[in-house]
Amino acid sequence: MTSELNSYDVVVIGGGAAGLSAALMLGRTRRSVAVVDAGHPRNSPADGVHGFLTREGMNPLDLVTAGRADVQLYGGVIISGTAVGVASTDDPHNRFHTTLDDGTVLRSRRLLLTTGLTDVLPDIPGLRERWGQEVLHCPFCHGWEVRDQHIGILGTSAMSVHQALLFRQWSSSITLFLNATVEPTEEEWEQLAARGVTVVDGSVARVLNQNDGGTLSGVELTGGRVVPLEALVVAPRFVANTGIFESLGLAPVQHPMGVGEHIAVDEMGATGVDGVWAAGNVANLMLQVLPSAASGSMAAMAINNDLMAEELQQDLAAHRAGSAAVASSGADPSPGTIPSSVATASDSRMGAEVS
Ligand SMILES: Cc1cc2nc3c(=O)[nH]c(=O)nc-3n(C[C@H](O)[C@H](O)[C@H](O)COP(=O)(O)OP(=O)(O)OC[C@H]3O[C@@H](n4cnc5c(N)ncnc54)[C@H](O)[C@@H]3O)c2cc1C
Repeated sequence: MTSELNSYDVVVIGGGAAGLSAALMLGRTRRSVAVVDAGHPRNSPADGVHGFLTREGMNPLDLVTAGRADVQLYGGVIISGTAVGVASTDDPHNRFHTTLDDGTVLRSRRLLLTTGLTDVLPDIPGLRERWGQEVLHCPFCHGWEVRDQHIGILGTSAMSVHQALLFRQWSSSITLFLNATVEPTEEEWEQLAARGVTVVDGSVARVLNQNDGGTLSGVELTGGRVVPLEALVVAPRFVANTGIFESLGLAPVQHPMGVGEHIAVDEMGATGVDGVWAAGNVANLMLQVLPSAASGSMAAMAINNDLMAEELQQDLAAHRAGSAAVASSGADPSPGTIPSSVATASDSRMGAEVS
């Protein structure tokens, strides 16, 4: 266990569901861990987290606060700040240097990237203001909250027809705006008709909000026609927050469905760069909160096993060197001697929060 000031077994960059879940697990494996978090989880515009068993409807920021407390129970350090650079070094005990926006440098043996993604929204006046409220993207997150309402689907990509068909499950009043972008196939026209989806062949010029900033009341098409609505579904482009990781040689890859870009990982979160893992939305654009937390937990176990394998090699080398020295001196070997790296895990580090 690394215990030098600002030096950790693992630095986790990003403290949402994935990062905090990983840090909880790492703390419980007696690893020293620091989580750097800028404090803007992706779902923070929404009032509640839905579909997370035992936390139904909890405010997204309250979930983070509770997660931080869990991490601190096991000595994890939470640092409020933004990582602005990462670099790898040749020092096996401090392989990664993470630089924060206040100039602090954190050193670590392993790195976990859990910075989430950015939802790139269509550039339509009035839309951004209601994002996470009546402007939505995910029926599993918000479908229940807008059930039986008048719901519009903003045409942005081939996914929009799928969204219209899907949201029909929550309301019989679905209007798909082709928005000069979506051209349904013959088969899709039939599907839309069969599901009773109204199709409007016009471009959305702006989103109308009651009393300037109040709840969404409809959309205005180019040409001035107003269609009253209570909710509007969009398909943002999902762009993983990877900018600072390119210095490690980690370039984002395109998602196979064309919905955005992310860091490629294996099933345990290992990236192609030795010593670096990624979890949550930065690695999988489709994950919700609960599966993001699960992916962080999986990555933490893999990181712990990787550290253990490294320590085992060190202990074996020390053990063999000791045996060779004893053999050449003719003294009795001491089979009960515990190698130092195994015996140093300490419970003395208390959890801390650093702003
Ligand atoms: C409007 C909306 C509502 C949603 N509602 C739901 C819902 O009801 N249920 C559900 O299951 N899912 C919901 N989701 C999806 C959910 O937000 C994601 O699945 C989840 O946030 C992914 O967790 P994460 O840990 O990967 O990323 P995040 O939760 O986004 O956490 C990433 C963290 O990393 C930080 N960060 C980024 N870059 C840096 C950096 N350089 N240095 C330090 N910190 C950094 C961010 O500030 C953030 O705190 C919703 C999404 C949106 C957009």
